[in-house]
Amino acid sequence: MINRLYKSKAVPLILQIAALIVFILLITGGLGIEAESKKVLSHLRNTNLSNLIVWSYWWPLIVLTAVLFGRHWCTICPVEMVSAITERIGFKLKPGRFIKSGWVITILYAIIAIVAIHTMGIHRTPNKMAWYLISLMLLAVIVSIIFKKRAFCSYFCPVGKLLGLYSLMSRFGIRVKSTNVCRDCNTKECISNKLEYKTVGRSCTSGLYPAKLTDNRNCIVCTQCIKSCSKDNVHFTATENRYFGFDFNNFGTAEVAMAIILSGFICYEILSSWKVSEEVLMAIPNYIYSLISPDLIGRKTFDAIMIFVLLPTAVMTIFTTLVKFTGNKPWIFYLKRTVGYILPVVAFGHLFKAIIKTTSRIPYWKYATTDPVGSKYAKEIANGDIVLHKPDWIGTLVISIGVLVLLFAAYRSLKKMFSDQQLNRKSKTIYLIMITTIVILMLFGPITSLIL
Ligand code: SF4
Ligand code: SF4
Repeated sequence: MINRLYKSKAVPLILQIAALIVFILLITGGLGIEAESKKVLSHLRNTNLSNLIVWSYWWPLIVLTAVLFGRHWCTICPVEMVSAITERIGFKLKPGRFIKSGWVITILYAIIAIVAIHTMGIHRTPNKMAWYLISLMLLAVIVSIIFKKRAFCSYFCPVGKLLGLYSLMSRFGIRVKSTNVCRDCNTKECISNKLEYKTVGRSCTSGLYPAKLTDNRNCIVCTQCIKSCSKDNVHFTATENRYFGFDFNNFGTAEVAMAIILSGFICYEILSSWKVSEEVLMAIPNYIYSLISPDLIGRKTFDAIMIFVLLPTAVMTIFTTLVKFTGNKPWIFYLKRTVGYILPVVAFGHLFKAIIKTTSRIPYWKYATTDPVGSKYAKEIANGDIVLHKPDWIGTLVISIGVLVLLFAAYRSLKKMFSDQQLNRKSKTIYLIMITTIVILMLFGPITSLIL
């Protein structure tokens, strides 16, 4: 059924056009909408329909689809469509080695997490959200005017890379039906240079050879290879991955760095949802800040650097070094595993946060749909003229589901780790301690809130 849809010439083009219209409407709905007072702003982010959709529904939904079904957001992403058009009229240069290394994406992701999200709060103000979307689109246009072959999606888009890491959890992906058919294929439309700029049925502009796909990281499920293959040998299917599928050795250092920052970010997102766990997490940054009080950067930026970069790097370095003492492989071999075994907990932790967000915003829907700008209702809610009602049982249900989701992630991670034949018993014991510690830390807030 799904493959019949993917073979259709109209898919994903028609969906991308629809997504582009929605994208423009979301930008228009947020542009210029701000509030001076912090209290009003804390409600405006949810009473403004565009901001509510982007951060509380669109973003959680694409995380969910990536974890379950791979990079399907990329399938319908309007930015990909705009890049595909603009690259035809551009310089078509080949990206250099540094760009291809993946570090540009990791650096961009770090800037977005530290500066744009934590320091500037782009998710808290509709106007900033609108400018964030505009900036992404502008960057995509500039990159695709300069470089060839979907360079923005492959080497610049932090959203795509994040979804790529999460899509490693998905059991589904694009694969060939038979590698023998590919071996004997002499037309190889899927990688043919002649088909590079075809509107429908292009060769893979992400530089992938479908016959060699073993994980979902870089495949944006654009479905072009399904259409281009004259042997009808490519399909979207359940893959052979039983737990979560990827070979740690394929992990690049830039991806490892991105996964470390992502772990810090998601741990913060979960732990800061409850006062008690936030205090535990912030104890170290607060202490260091009181010692050095850096004047060069603001407090929020300092906290973000500590929590998203330095703390997770320290934790992963410690565990990796401990495991290294138990085995004779290179340190980087163990670092890739450290990051790889934490990744499912991070991805499912992100889902947990997504469930909290989507459900906690339900009381705002009535107001956001009545007045999509949201300024009037934000003021009335802030002044206490409107009282929002959220049944307690929803919070309890969400937390209970989230706890189960995290336990499931830990189970998957442990199962994968125990089946790792390149690790000895001592290494596995340390990874067991690491995974258990991180899950307990992440569950600290939700469980105490259920008990107390
Ligand atoms: S995916 Fe299709 S076009 Fe590509 S090598 Fe295999 S059979 Fe040939
Ligand atoms: S392998 Fe390439 S062409 Fe095929 S769906 Fe993935 S990104 Fe698209």
